[in-house]
Amino acid sequence: MLKLAAFSAFALSLVAAQDGGITGPMSNPAAAGYSCDPNSCKLPKCNCASTSPPGGLQPSEVPQFVVFTADDAVQSYTIDSVNQFLAHRKNPNGCPIKMTYFTSLNYTNYTLVTDWYVAGNEIADHTMTHVGTPPASEINGNLIALNALAGIPLDAIKGFRAPFLNYSVDTFNLLAAADFTYDSSSSASIPVTDPGTDAFWPYTLDNGLANDCLNVPGICKGQPKIPGFWEIPMYAFFDNLGVNGPHLMDPWLDNANGGTTVNDSATLQYMQNTFTAHYTGNRQPIGLYTHPIHLSTTYPGVNAPNSTINMINQYLDWVQEQQNVWIVSNEQLLAWVQNPVPVSQLDSVDALKCPTPQVDPSKKICNGMPQNEAGLVQECAFADFPFYTCYGCPQVEVTPSNPNPPQQVVSGQQARYRLPSNCSTPFWDPIAGNCLCTSSSCAFTDNSRPIGPNGANLTGGGTGGSSSGASQTPSYVNFNGAPPVKLFGSGLVGVVCAVFVGALGAIAGSALVSL
Ligand SMILES: [Zn+2]
Repeated sequence: MLKLAAFSAFALSLVAAQDGGITGPMSNPAAAGYSCDPNSCKLPKCNCASTSPPGGLQPSEVPQFVVFTADDAVQSYTIDSVNQFLAHRKNPNGCPIKMTYFTSLNYTNYTLVTDWYVAGNEIADHTMTHVGTPPASEINGNLIALNALAGIPLDAIKGFRAPFLNYSVDTFNLLAAADFTYDSSSSASIPVTDPGTDAFWPYTLDNGLANDCLNVPGICKGQPKIPGFWEIPMYAFFDNLGVNGPHLMDPWLDNANGGTTVNDSATLQYMQNTFTAHYTGNRQPIGLYTHPIHLSTTYPGVNAPNSTINMINQYLDWVQEQQNVWIVSNEQLLAWVQNPVPVSQLDSVDALKCPTPQVDPSKKICNGMPQNEAGLVQECAFADFPFYTCYGCPQVEVTPSNPNPPQQVVSGQQARYRLPSNCSTPFWDPIAGNCLCTSSSCAFTDNSRPIGPNGANLTGGGTGGSSSGASQTPSYVNFNGAPPVKLFGSGLVGVVCAVFVGALGAIAGSALVSL
């Protein structure tokens, strides 16, 4: 029963994941009505929407960035799926490839989010329950839950993508109020070879938006003005139909050139053609925007064709054969745009480096590093989708109205300590409540964000007892003010035991979750 219920719910979410399609131009210069004075709008805090590289650099001096993103739940299937394209690749400086995961929380396995983040990838917000034009609770609750249950520092979650790419002026205002750095929900829908192209380099909203002007009410012509808040447009590919043949998300699921069936070689051809147009032009970034579940080879019921998987790798192989091509996360792209340097100086860009946290591999701590955390993750046996976490299971599933429920405490054990604001994820021991970092090289400070009820500032840490192991931990206010309870200490006993047994059976039987 459980397995079936989980599968049908997941199948529904697969349907919901078929978002991100566009069929023609979403803007034009008249609809954009955009003006911006580069003499007053200057980096790093302000950047005009422009087809030319930032910082006055010549196209030949700038890297060709290829952004790789994934959307929706983080699971073993989706991580496997991303890894089949990225795990074996390196950037020109020898560092592993990083990507951006726009995470929604239904069916997400939190411990894999921790691992993915600690490995250097960007975790971004895609609402808690995958809703378009979301209310604040969906946007901010995602930060609170990812901080509490995946140990992601609040300050590290900088970006947002709207489910179904369905956003409004309100969405941008909510993001700015919650101290987000950027949104990436808009489309660049006109080829870079067209004089009226809307393929702008990432820009700030000091002078409003300049993409999607034909289909989102109340934007463009100077609106909305949100100084310092960035938009990273999603750059479409174009097939032989040109501006009438755009392909935005998961282009390999689309029929190319007005055809009636998927044709991998035609898809590869137009992806290469669009890349070349960017690369030989002004080098605006290009992207692979994926729903990785569609390309899973391990998820029951999904049969991604090998020919499609091979085609995508063939594209990335070909892309990486060109000079000065970097496959990056949005966070890495934005770091370079804010402080652009020519390709000859890329070694100086911190965001493109690959520091590995130096944690003693023999230490047994639950920290997002597989060699350290083995045997220490907790199983949270919820009926519709069980998950794992280092940071203590919540008593009930997270919801937008209750994104950080009180912790279940296993009888005979202490509550686990959530990531405090003065220790980075790989160095934090949530069982001992202790920070292993003892040198300035691993020193860390998270920042509070105005994401609590009525915009109250919220800081990570706490829950389940004092954080005495970490010095100078700021006072922590539990989101709902509720203390942790003992798992087997009261009337919860029967319910929790039954759920545990049922869910473990489901895990064994269907491999719904794996570490
Ligand atoms: Zn989505």
